[in-house]
Formats: sequence, C-alpha cells, structure tokens
Amino acid sequence: MAAMQITTSPSANPVDDARLTEILANPGFGTHFSDHMLTVEWTPDRGWHEARITPYGPITLDPAAAVLHYAQEIFEGMKAYHHDDGSIWTFRPEANAERMRRSSQRLALPVLEPADFVECVDALVTTDRRWVPDNRDGGEKSLYVRPFMFASESFLGVRPAEHVTFMVILSPAGAYFKGGVKPITLWLSEDYTRAGRGGMGAAKTGGNYASSLLPQQEAYAQGCDQVVFLDATEGRYVEELGGMNTYFVFDDGTIVTPETGTILEGITRASIIELAGKMGYQVTERKFDIDEWREGIASGRLTEVFACGTAAVVTPIGTLKTKDGDVPAPASTDLTMRIRQALVDVQLGRAEDTFGWMHRV
Ligand code: PMP
Repeated sequence: MAAMQITTSPSANPVDDARLTEILANPGFGTHFSDHMLTVEWTPDRGWHEARITPYGPITLDPAAAVLHYAQEIFEGMKAYHHDDGSIWTFRPEANAERMRRSSQRLALPVLEPADFVECVDALVTTDRRWVPDNRDGGEKSLYVRPFMFASESFLGVRPAEHVTFMVILSPAGAYFKGGVKPITLWLSEDYTRAGRGGMGAAKTGGNYASSLLPQQEAYAQGCDQVVFLDATEGRYVEELGGMNTYFVFDDGTIVTPETGTILEGITRASIIELAGKMGYQVTERKFDIDEWREGIASGRLTEVFACGTAAVVTPIGTLKTKDGDVPAPASTDLTMRIRQALVDVQLGRAEDTFGWMHRV
C-alpha cells in the first residue's frame, strides 16, 4: 500500500468538552478511549484495504475468528505528547512500526509497511487531537496509542489467517507514578518463565502477556509491584519484567542491560543506550546473572538498578524479593533519575531533540 486512502466518518456523539476536561484532568491508564478508531483489513488477494476512521465502539467478530482460538495477534504501545506550543508529537513511531513488522513475521501475520503504520497513527491522532492532554500543570500526561493486528478470519483450521484486521485506538494516560517517582519492588519468578529459545519473547504478542499474569499475581501476593523473569534454559540470567526492560549500573560507571533474543526489544531500552552514550557512558548488552545482582548489592558495587518502558519511562528498582530472601535496594538512583529526566524532556519538547526521535503529527 503506497499512500493509504483513509476514509473518515466523524462520531455523531463525541465526548463533550466538559466531560473531556474532567477525563484529561485525571485520565488513569487504559480506561477512557477517544472518539474514533482506525481499522484496515487485509486479505491475500487485495492486500491492505478499506482503511477507515469511524466512531469508537464495539466490533463484531465471528465466534470462529481465529484470534479467539489460536491467539494470532500482535500489538504495539506508544505515546503522543502535547508540547507547550500546542503541537503534537509521537516518540520514534518508526521504531514501533519496525517492531510490529518483526512481530508480524514471527506470528505469520501480513506486514504493514512502517510508512503506512505511521500514517495510520498520525491520521487517528490528528482526528482526536483534543484527546492529547497538555502538561501545563507540570505533569507527564500523554495519549497512549495502541495499534494492534489480529486474525479475523472465521476458520478453525490451524494455519495463518487469510483475513487479518489492523486497528488503532487511543487512550489518555496520566503520570505512571502519582505523587512522584519511587523505587518499585520486584518478585523473582522462579517457577515460571516468560519465553524460551526460539519462542515468541521478542514479539509483542498477547500470549506473552497472558503467560505473565499468573507470575504477576504471585508478585502482588508477595507485596511486590512487578515480576522479574529469568531465562528459560538455565534459570539464572535476568531477562525483563512483565512489561519493562532492565538496566544495571556499577560504581565504576559500567552499565549493563540484558542482551536481546528472548526479551522484548524496548524502544525505551534502545533509546537509553544512545542517550547514555551521549552522557559519556558505555552500555554493554550481555547476559546478566541473578547472582551478579545479589553479589553486586552485597559488595556495594552495583549502585543502581532501573526498569524502562513506554508506560513509566524510567523507574528505579528497589528491593528484589526472592524465595531465598530479599536483595536490598541499591544505594543510589542518581543516574537513573538523570536518564529519566533527559528522556522526558525530549518527549515533552523541553530539551533539544538531538537524536531526531520526535515525530510531529
Ligand atoms: N518488555 C515488555 C515485556 C514490555 O511489554 C514492554 C512495554 N512495551 C517493554 C519491555 C518496554 O518496551 P518499550 O520501551 O518499547 O515500551
């Protein structure tokens, strides 16, 4: 599909201004949706077609739709930001588009060209631009963008679907941390893993999140905020959290982040590698043994541990709770908070975008 033809039918019943002001004052996460949604269909003979923006609302699926049975589904997560001059920007949307391309290949779904992906997101965000919260109150609000693709063919055979639907929906998001950033506590999952060699760990697909729910419940039961997963083969290398990547900072200035392969390749993770480089640090991507965490805290050499992802940007990690006892919080959050501020400033248009990461909608 070269330049896509997107038809638009405006909502006859958009959320009124007073209610919208109320929602944007305290959006929470993932509970309110904008006035419109975007949908595109794919079939082998026609390719991507019928791109349309329509009023937001329920969709009809045949009970035999393959996604409901075999989970042939992928998604993305990114944000649109309101800058103080009124302009609207997304953060590295081509990177999300490229990741969705990789996810679609792993799930045997058709590829939506990155340029078309970005065009779809731009078109919907433009239509619903009044839903992008501003941050004149000093907050970190944004409009969360959720593109997703699923097997909509009605067929119970196990093979790649021949009717696929791509959609985009929008949901205003408040600051991840109410009352300021504070370290999160983690539960080490030793009974469950997230992804194995040759599995789907690097793909952003619903099944990975379905399998994380039970260990995440275990984390909550332990009084922790998030679960941390180890590799499936040896059960000793740190992979990632349920929805964030991890970073480790040592007292000699070394920064380590687990290598890719079975983890989701976070856009935030990749951005921090570049940002840290500019700040004079070299990030090493390698396996990170859970014992290095324990020993690093015990010796004081491991000074900071943090998590990163679209939702929370960058967040310090405090105590790691395990079956064998607690690993206390690292001593510092200095570099973590500096990296966080540098990223947020670029996203909100308060610092020069030297990497060319921001995309004007
Ligand atoms: N890992 C997992 C499992 C995630 O769900 C996410 C959030 N998309 C991340 C890492 C961080 O990725 P990103 O920085 O692109 O949000």
